[in-house]
Amino acid sequence: MKKHNFYAGPSILSEYTIKNTADAVLNFADMGLSLLEISHRSKQFQAVIDEATALVKELLEIPEGYSVLFLGGGASMQFCMVPYNLLQNKAAYLDTGVWAHKAIKEAQLFGEVEVVASSADRNYNYIPRDFKVPTDVDYFHYTTNNTIYGTEIRKDPEVGNVRLVADMSSDIFSRAIDVSKYDVIYAGAQKNLAPAGVTIVIVKDDALGKVTRPIPTMLNYKTHVDKGSMFNTPPVLPIFSALQTLKYYKSLGGIREIEKVDIAKAAKLYEAIDASRIFVATVPDHADRSIMNVCFVMKPEYAELEKEFVDFATAQGMVGIKGHRSVGGFRASLYNALPMESVEALIACMKEFEAKH
Ligand SMILES: *Cc1c(COP(=O)(O)O)cnc(C)c1O
Repeated sequence: MKKHNFYAGPSILSEYTIKNTADAVLNFADMGLSLLEISHRSKQFQAVIDEATALVKELLEIPEGYSVLFLGGGASMQFCMVPYNLLQNKAAYLDTGVWAHKAIKEAQLFGEVEVVASSADRNYNYIPRDFKVPTDVDYFHYTTNNTIYGTEIRKDPEVGNVRLVADMSSDIFSRAIDVSKYDVIYAGAQKNLAPAGVTIVIVKDDALGKVTRPIPTMLNYKTHVDKGSMFNTPPVLPIFSALQTLKYYKSLGGIREIEKVDIAKAAKLYEAIDASRIFVATVPDHADRSIMNVCFVMKPEYAELEKEFVDFATAQGMVGIKGHRSVGGFRASLYNALPMESVEALIACMKEFEAKH
């Protein structure tokens, strides 16, 4: 039976990515050796990281003055690397969910943190509006897509002269962004790019070297900027896979084309949920709804059917639709590699289930 992969992360990758990665594990760049057993300093691997860097710059239209890094440690490592490198006195954070909250907790180890707004009061099912970012902060940090709650901020915020930092782990490459507004963008690879193990960091060179504290070598962005992510052994396999995904994105016509499809996929699923008698979306305001992670639950009068629906959908090939434990219900993640066909299969499955009840 065909599987439809709605996992939130690690999550679906393109067949192109998986096939080329599998081939390289057997025979990398016609070296007669596996990608797993060659030096990261070989000219063949250097070519991989160079091309991946160039493609990130091309696809995201990154202007001059920025470095693209491929680092280990996951997006969670960036929760501490950002304040380590950028927070001298005070930073502002927007609290839109678990990941934002974890970032705040780390930043508090380095200086004063002003939480400008929070949507914790309604279990993070909306994006706070009308908050003010103070002008005397070293930077403002926010999470563009809240993977667990299915909310998303798709418009780069206006923060005047304040440095802007974003965790884009679960929606990078799903929309065109104005990189020039940001000082740091980071994203763990395992949502829209590659297997777990590498994190993309886009850093404005000019933002570095402004704090007075000593920074451990490996946690210092400057180390990795100076060495082109090759200070130590980088995560070779996920970087190779990332390159395949980036090539695939380019072949699709780039980010703007991908964005159109992503918007259409999400619109179709939300429309089906909104029209349903038994399902309801957890994010009421359409403007706040994520196009990457669609969260929905059973209406209260059908609440007892939740487990039955998961079993029913699983039997029809739907994988990974159980909601995160802090929201419950269901979550369908519609990352770039998920075809429209899978969205249609899920909708058909929901309709069939609804007709039975
Ligand atoms: C998954 C995720 C993270 C955590 O990523 P790790 O690579 O596991 O550390 C952080 N932020 C967001 C928005 C995520 O979706």
